[in-house]
Amino acid sequence: MSGAKPKHPDLRRRSIINQAERILEDEGLNSLPVDIDALAASRDIIVQAKPDAAAGVSGMLLRFGNDFGIYYSTHIPSVGYQRFSIAHELGHFFIEGHAERLVPTSGSMHQSHAGFASDDVIEREADYFASGLLMPTDPFQREMRRRDDGLEAIIALSELCCSSLTATAIRYADLSRGAIAVIVSNGPTVEFAFLSEGIKSLKDIRWLRKGSPVPAGTLTARFNADAQRVQAAGRDDDDIDISDWLSGQSVRGREEVIGLGGYGRTLTVLTCTVRDDTYDDEQDEEEALTESWTPRFHKR
Ligand SMILES: [Zn+2]
Repeated sequence: MSGAKPKHPDLRRRSIINQAERILEDEGLNSLPVDIDALAASRDIIVQAKPDAAAGVSGMLLRFGNDFGIYYSTHIPSVGYQRFSIAHELGHFFIEGHAERLVPTSGSMHQSHAGFASDDVIEREADYFASGLLMPTDPFQREMRRRDDGLEAIIALSELCCSSLTATAIRYADLSRGAIAVIVSNGPTVEFAFLSEGIKSLKDIRWLRKGSPVPAGTLTARFNADAQRVQAAGRDDDDIDISDWLSGQSVRGREEVIGLGGYGRTLTVLTCTVRDDTYDDEQDEEEALTESWTPRFHKR
């Protein structure tokens, strides 16, 4: 492990989120929950539910001449998930180059896999757009500041934004100035993890890579051993040492878990207090989060 930071912070992601936020400002839609139907209507895009979409397909973008339509899948009966699916398709409509590539001719159609599940760059870009659209920085951060970091705040923001818990948790870790990690696991396996800049400043932490095991003995490991609790959207929390998850520096913290119900996965939120002298504030805005799993260590 080197001490170097990645050469290319995720500027593309930032610029896509900024684009979504600018569109909302231009349309006067910059309040929570964001009225994405009004945004679609402003571009004469027809949005319809599609109950019979293939499993795994979150939505579709269709083109007829120069008119566009969006179908969104309803097989996951969560308004937050469905709104994210619609916002993802709006991303394909607005992000330069997407429509030309995905629906180049009249009658063509693109099937999406929204929700940070796809490794396809174009799908990820539409996901970034969707998170910026549903959770624009200014109103989102205003609401964050009124709360303490943790699962309660994420649930409250998810309700305010009408966005899924997972998408809200990721955005929360992105924008938090505190030390917070959000982890989505499926049984014994970590599916993805996002760390705030604050928690990354802990010394010698280990990255939680996609596919790595949920650390044995953690609250999440015990919780996931009982599929019933996951399905029933159960919750639990415990005082922990953050090193149980991230190795490295020993620091007291909190682990909170919630089952994501029919989705079959678990959301884990780790929070702790990081001493100010280990926190490099100026990097917060530009590089809060990268998709890269490259470890970063602050040289001091
Ligand atoms: Zn897509």
